[in-house]
Amino acid sequence: MSENIFLKIINKEIPADIVYEDDKVLAFNDISPQAPTHILIIPKKEIRKLHDSNEGDCELLGHLMLAAKKIMADKQIKHYRLVINNGSEAGQTVFHLHLHILAGRDFGWPPG
Ligand code: 5GP
Repeated sequence: MSENIFLKIINKEIPADIVYEDDKVLAFNDISPQAPTHILIIPKKEIRKLHDSNEGDCELLGHLMLAAKKIMADKQIKHYRLVINNGSEAGQTVFHLHLHILAGRDFGWPPG
């Protein structure tokens, strides 16, 4: 069993409400949604946080963004916010890179 909870989801060791999957990324509903739509999209490659990525991850990071767009397009949702928390002081609690996709309510700016 892997320690990283998101790797466990990738490896189907624990369940998740999966909304999209391809060879590079997996997307599933957040267990504690902060908006009516709150999806997490993660690379299958283990990257602990965005700051640990490198030039070799360029295509994967682009793929992550385009997968987010595809998921929202399939849901016919045009207004949404994408968030990456990088590091604990920025709010990161799970150390496997993930993109939050939030939609279905108004969002304030600046973010809290
Ligand atoms: P972070 O705070 O690291 O940016 O976001 C981690 C997110 O993962 C949180 O929104 C949290 O609710 C979600 N999360 C943590 N554990 C699980 C889990 O086991 N399953 C799912 N679906 N979401 C999780």
